[in-house]
Amino acid sequence: MNITTRLHLLEAIRRAEQAVTARTAADRAYTRATKAAADALTETRRHQQQLADTPDSDHTQHAEALEAAQKTYADCSRRQQTAKAKVRRTVAAARAANRGLAALYTPHARGRATGGQRRHAVAAGLLDELASMPLELIRAADAILVHSSAGKDSLVMLHRLATWAAQAGCKDKIVVVHCDLGDTSEWPGVRQLAERQADRYGLRFIAVDADGGLLGLVEKRGMFPDATRRLCTSTLKRDKANVLLTVIVAALGLDRQALIINCLGIRAAESTARSRKRGLAIDTRTSNGKRLVLTWHPIHALSDTEVWQEIAAEGLEYHPTYDALIPRLSCVFCVLAGFSVLVRAVRLCWALGLPLAERYEELEARIGHRFKEQCSLADVIKEAARIEAEEGPLTWRRGDAIRDQLGDDAVDDYLHRLALAA
Ligand code: SF4
Repeated sequence: MNITTRLHLLEAIRRAEQAVTARTAADRAYTRATKAAADALTETRRHQQQLADTPDSDHTQHAEALEAAQKTYADCSRRQQTAKAKVRRTVAAARAANRGLAALYTPHARGRATGGQRRHAVAAGLLDELASMPLELIRAADAILVHSSAGKDSLVMLHRLATWAAQAGCKDKIVVVHCDLGDTSEWPGVRQLAERQADRYGLRFIAVDADGGLLGLVEKRGMFPDATRRLCTSTLKRDKANVLLTVIVAALGLDRQALIINCLGIRAAESTARSRKRGLAIDTRTSNGKRLVLTWHPIHALSDTEVWQEIAAEGLEYHPTYDALIPRLSCVFCVLAGFSVLVRAVRLCWALGLPLAERYEELEARIGHRFKEQCSLADVIKEAARIEAEEGPLTWRRGDAIRDQLGDDAVDDYLHRLALAA
């Protein structure tokens, strides 16, 4: 089966899934409408009975109530008919989508591709095959969006993608997208670094501004996000970057469905939730008739050490924050960071002369909502002050992150490679 057939099959599976989801939603809406109509009919009968049992002098009030109940019943009945028509339409659409999928699948493989579980299994198999052929996937794509935070994982992902794209002769398809959360959220120089990292491979770079950043979002909502309501990522990063999809697809000017690949540097080793993600997946939320969007995690299987080994071996420029042994280049105060990392972030702010810790502490007090359920930023600052009193200010040297991960011997070699690459 060639790559075009695989992609057509994925699109047929996506359409079938979408049609089945629409049918399920229509079924539910019909059930709700039917119940509402039945309740309205019962209410109407009750008022009819009341009116019949009421002396003539009290008729007016009951007549009005009956009229209102009859109107509600009529509305509900109309809604029920509309919902029923929609069920018929969506059933027909789901059958047609499954027939289309079966017709495409049968010439290439044994067994069925339809039915929920079977569809998922076929899609998973196809996606695994595609993920194992990066050059073909890059050649087949119309545009490749590489989401870069400028952090270590983005850096290694970018290096791999740029190398593959150069081998495939497709570097012009890549757009490096960086969501800039601004200097009240991020460490200094992050946006500039993301741009330099893209420049190294001659790739197009677009920075998307997330107005107000994390601080602005918290001011607006009056509360900090948390792991279960991670609005910061969706509002400040994902939704902003998704707007670009429409712009990029329109600029392609294709008269067929575009294949867009969204690349993210997440890794299984980072968390249980991330370990459950697939190397390649259909983005059903942003795909539509005009674009099939695949989400690709090209470094999903790498460990922390492997990431640092690649950075060292290739002389890739990472952000100095890592040298202060802060493990992620996230927001300065990330709501997902552990207590000790936050303490270190406060100390790094003080060492760099950034007034952010005090600003967040003031915000926390003003809105009356703790930075994290387990600890307030005031607690974090208190602990940072205690450590500073014992140990003095935080210090670090360029290459400390490499030293910490790979040992002393790797540092000189890395700094040499970095200088050569500059
Ligand atoms: S880095 Fe942390 S705080 Fe910042 S947007 Fe991401 S999850 Fe939210």
